[in-house]
Amino acid sequence: MCQWAFIQYSSQNLHHRGTCGGVAMHLVWDLLFLITVMLNYACILGLRASGRLSLPVRRFVAAPVTRMCSTDTHENLAHLKASIEVAGSVVRELKAAAADKDEVKAAVDALLVLKAELSALDGTPVDVRSKTNKKKASKASATASEPSEEDGVCPRMEDLVNLCKRKGFIFPSSEIYSPFSGFFDYGPLGTELKNNIRQAWWREFVQSREDVVGLDSSIISSPAIWRASGHVDGFSDPMVDCKESKLRYRADQVFWAKLEQQKEGGSAVYVSVMEADDMQATAQAAAEKKAKEAGFIGPFKPLSALKDLTEAADTDEYARIPSPATGQEGGLTAPREFNLMFQTSVGAVEGGSSVAYLRPETAQGIFTNFANVQRTARMKVPFGIAQVGKAFRNEITPRNYIFRSREFEQMEIEYFVSDKEGEWEEHYKRWLEDSWSWLLRIGLREDMLFRDVKSGGLAHYAKACTDITFRFPFGTQELMGVAARGNYDLTVHANGSGEKLDYFDQAEERRYLPHVIEPSIGLDRLLLALLTSAYHVEDVPAAKGGTEKRTVLALHPQMAPVKVAVFPLVNNKAELTDKARALFSTLQKRYSCEFDTSGAIGRRYRRADEIGTPYCITVDFCSLDDDTVTVRDRDSMEQVRMAISDVPAFLSKKIDGV
Ligand code: ATP
Repeated sequence: MCQWAFIQYSSQNLHHRGTCGGVAMHLVWDLLFLITVMLNYACILGLRASGRLSLPVRRFVAAPVTRMCSTDTHENLAHLKASIEVAGSVVRELKAAAADKDEVKAAVDALLVLKAELSALDGTPVDVRSKTNKKKASKASATASEPSEEDGVCPRMEDLVNLCKRKGFIFPSSEIYSPFSGFFDYGPLGTELKNNIRQAWWREFVQSREDVVGLDSSIISSPAIWRASGHVDGFSDPMVDCKESKLRYRADQVFWAKLEQQKEGGSAVYVSVMEADDMQATAQAAAEKKAKEAGFIGPFKPLSALKDLTEAADTDEYARIPSPATGQEGGLTAPREFNLMFQTSVGAVEGGSSVAYLRPETAQGIFTNFANVQRTARMKVPFGIAQVGKAFRNEITPRNYIFRSREFEQMEIEYFVSDKEGEWEEHYKRWLEDSWSWLLRIGLREDMLFRDVKSGGLAHYAKACTDITFRFPFGTQELMGVAARGNYDLTVHANGSGEKLDYFDQAEERRYLPHVIEPSIGLDRLLLALLTSAYHVEDVPAAKGGTEKRTVLALHPQMAPVKVAVFPLVNNKAELTDKARALFSTLQKRYSCEFDTSGAIGRRYRRADEIGTPYCITVDFCSLDDDTVTVRDRDSMEQVRMAISDVPAFLSKKIDGV
């Protein structure tokens, strides 16, 4: 969006080129231009490590092009070429630093804009794409963000991010200053969508069941909880720093491999790649390139299996592994543990005794309230306690948009079961099945959903764990986890607090600490998975003949942020708008609705399709005579005529299923 605003702005300026000339003005502009370029470049380099690049990058390109309005074509060319040089260096810097994909894209886009301006000015065809970016750029310029065959049926991340920003689903937090990495704000549509997901989850797993009740525990609680649960000592990720670029990585997200010459005692090259679905191929290509550069002559042994950095930490090989940022061997510090909990101070006095933590998960509030809830709600094992709420993790590398952020929302259930041999397995399986089928029912694509049954690497107390993973545009990653945690949590809190947390089973006349099954899902990740499942672009017949692109969010009607859009056919006939408004007011009592009067009906349909509105109702001239309207279905695009009085029942059946 901002990029768009900039492009429009710069081309407007170009149209007015030469209207504010003058020699003195020239000199001032020249000086300003030079200073701005230098300052911006320094600023970009300086801010690279802190991940706050987007705004400076935008400012960088805005400066030279804005200046174009005051100079003649000859000078423009010189300045543009200079700007392109600098913009090119920025792109190279960012790539070398393995900067965030969006940052690199913003810088590449900026470079392409400058090159396009150059092409427009000097009239010679300019290849606006670098060799490596040719493919990407041609994809980026495809109309209506059409998914390519190469992408299969999974939408591209940039299309989702663009839609979310353009339509007001999600904004980067603090954007007017400079996006604050790892934090996001949900706009009007995003808020509705989030509410719908949250409500559907609560309805399904709490209100529709007799054996699960809800809880809303505090975000900040006694630090004793986090000491007992093991979070203070152990809730950490291994972190490494690139010594040169100062970029920081999670050691278990950086993978490395070795390509070794076949001959006895032959040399080897090492490569590192960031975790991704295609990292094997990336590593292979990088290793072959590196071997060629080193002048190695084959044959080679097969590329060694990819391992993460933690697996090399104590070996001599660690010094050979290159930094992903600079490609320099030995460029990384040794992994060290970084605690992910955000600290704060409680009370007026700062110091060790006032330190508290923002909860990194909602689960501990459930465990510490186990006895309160069990007693007051008179629950009998097996039973569950559910909680939806914010969690905070100071992620080392927040990335992939809302997938891994520093503030997010979790929907968790702790389901307490008997400690008898063989009991937990049945519940564990059932929670896995129930979670899976609910995810499909609310609209996740089955071909994108997988199970990852953990066989090793479980916590010492855990009995089993399965991740439900989803094929996000950036790779297949954890969407939710279902874990059998034994009675570890209740045990540590009973020990830590000195309170009895055991359960008295009246039927069996015995006391025991229940075991727990924990289905846990991130609301933001689920929202991203729903958008990924729902987004598509298709060819549809155009009003003027031929076809046109239609972008649709085929969200489940219950998830759709707006359920119904009401349109008067024209907006300059009071009878029509009054009738449409009356219907809108009736429907608004039950559903989130939109009233749209601007543009042709076809355009209004497209706008509604793009945000996933399942039903559009048009009030036309016939409506004035016979009290009927046209109801149009988002997915089939079919329109049916029905009496206004039948609309509420129709929608109720379609949206609520009753
Ligand atoms: P990951 O391995 O991706 O860091 P995790 O295994 O640490 O996740 P859990 O502690 O099991 O995650 O948290 C439960 C759920 O909370 C996850 O399945 C995920 O949906 C969500 N979640 C965890 N961390 C984040 C985050 N940083 N941003 C958004 N959602 C998150």
